[in-house]
Amino acid sequence: MRLRATASALISALRPGDPEFAAALARRWAELPETARTKGQVLGRHAVGCEGTHGVFPRCNLACTPCYHSRDANQVRVDGPHTVAQVKAQLALFRRLRGPRAHAQLIGGEVSLLDPDDHAAALQAMRRHGREPMSFTHGDIDYDYLRRLVLGPDGRPRLRRVSFAAHFDMLMFGRRGIPGPENEASLNPYREQFARLFARLRREHGVRCFLAHNMTVTPANLAQVAGVVADCAAMGYGMFSFQPAAFVGDERRWHEPYRDVTGDQVWAQIERGVGARLDYRLFEHGDVRCNRVAYGFWAGDTWYPVLDGADPRDLAVRDGFLRYFGPVNFTGTPPGLLAVRLSLIAARHPRVLVLAAGWAARVVRRVGLRRLLTRRVRPVSYVMHQFMDAVDVAPAWQLMQRGETSPDPRIRATQERLAACHYAMAHPEDGTLVPACVQHCLLDPQENRDLRVLLPLPTVRPRRLLSDQIASYLI
Ligand code: SF4
Repeated sequence: MRLRATASALISALRPGDPEFAAALARRWAELPETARTKGQVLGRHAVGCEGTHGVFPRCNLACTPCYHSRDANQVRVDGPHTVAQVKAQLALFRRLRGPRAHAQLIGGEVSLLDPDDHAAALQAMRRHGREPMSFTHGDIDYDYLRRLVLGPDGRPRLRRVSFAAHFDMLMFGRRGIPGPENEASLNPYREQFARLFARLRREHGVRCFLAHNMTVTPANLAQVAGVVADCAAMGYGMFSFQPAAFVGDERRWHEPYRDVTGDQVWAQIERGVGARLDYRLFEHGDVRCNRVAYGFWAGDTWYPVLDGADPRDLAVRDGFLRYFGPVNFTGTPPGLLAVRLSLIAARHPRVLVLAAGWAARVVRRVGLRRLLTRRVRPVSYVMHQFMDAVDVAPAWQLMQRGETSPDPRIRATQERLAACHYAMAHPEDGTLVPACVQHCLLDPQENRDLRVLLPLPTVRPRRLLSDQIASYLI
C-alpha cells in the first residue's frame, strides 16, 4: 500500500502540469470577455490572476493623498486574531474558486501594524492555500520587525522566503525622518534603506526576498517618475509598479485633478527612466487599460526586454511558452522539481528546445556576450496598474449584476475592464469574488463601518498617532 502511495505521489509530483490548475486556467479563459482574449493574454493560460485581502487590517499610520481606503478605515482596531481568521476564510474561497496556485497580496492598511507573529501566521495560512503571498507596506519599518517576522520562537527561520511591496511617494505624509517629502528624489535614501533591510535579512538569516516598489502618480509627481525609475533601478527591487491616481476611497483626500494624468503619460515616463521602449502587448494581464507589464533585465546600466515584440521569432517563443509551459507552476516549485518538469515537457515537445536555443542566441547577440559575462544581470519588470473612478465603477457593476451592458461607451469600457479583472477580492460570506475596484469603490465603506463597530479603537488612547494628526490637517 505504502509503495503504491509513494509511486502515485511521485507520478503526481512529476506531472508537468497540475490538472486542477489546468482546469482553473480553462475556467478563467472561458470567463474572459472577447476584448481580453488576445495572443499575449496570460490570464487563463499561465495565471488565474492576482488576489488581495480586504477588511483584515484597514488601519494605516501614514496619511496619503489620495487614499484608496474609506473614511472609517482608520477607526478600526488592528486585531491579529481577526486578521488571521479573515485571511484563512478569504484564502479558502480563493483556493476553491481559483484553484491551487496564485499570487496573493496581504493588503489592507499597513501590514507592519500587525504583531509579527500574527503577520507570520497570515502568510503561513496563505502558503497553506497554495498562494505566493506578498505583504504590502509603506516601507517605514525597522529591521527588528522583519527579524521577528521571519524567525520563530526557537530563533530559526519560520519563513524561508518573503515578498514585500513597499509604497513610496511624495504624496504620503508622516514617514519617520521625512514627514512631508518635498519631492520624489528626497525619498530615495528611504527607498534604498528599505531594500537594505532585506539584504541584511538574507545575509544574517538566509531568508530570500522579493521586493516590489509601488508609487501613486498624480499631476504633482508625474514628471518625476522617470527620475525614480532611473535612480532606483539598482536598489534591489525586482518590480516597479506605478498607479495613476483615481477618484476612489476617501474623497476628503482627493486634492488634484487625477484624470489629467493618462496611462500613456505614465508609461512614457517609465520608458524615459528605463531608457527603452516597453512593449506592454507582449504579455497582457487582463485588460491593458488596467494593467501594463514589461518583463526584462538590467545588464549593467542597460535594460533589455526578455522578448522583443517586433521580432516574429520572439513572438513564436512567447506563443510556445504559453502553449507548452502555460500550466506549469513556476513560483513556489522547488528548483530541482521544476527542472525535472521542464525537462519532461521538452522531451515530449522537442520544438521547445529549438525555440529556446534560438531565443538564447538572440539574447546573447542583443546584449553581447562580454556584457552578459562581466556585468551584473538583474531581472526587473515594470508595471502600471490603473484603478477606475468610483463614479464609473458603481453604474457599471450594478448593470453587470443584472446581466446588462451599458449603452454609454465609457461605462461599457468599465464593464469590459471589470469582466477581465486581474485583481480579485474574496467574500466568503456569500461565496463571491469581486474586482478590487468594486471592493474599494462600492463595498469598503460599509465594510469599514461594520468593522469599526466590531473592532473599535480603545476609548482612551495615550496619544494620537502622528498620522492621525497629519490626516486631520490634510482633510
Ligand atoms: S481592480 Fe480594477 S483596475 Fe485593477 S484589474 Fe481589476 S478592474 Fe482593472
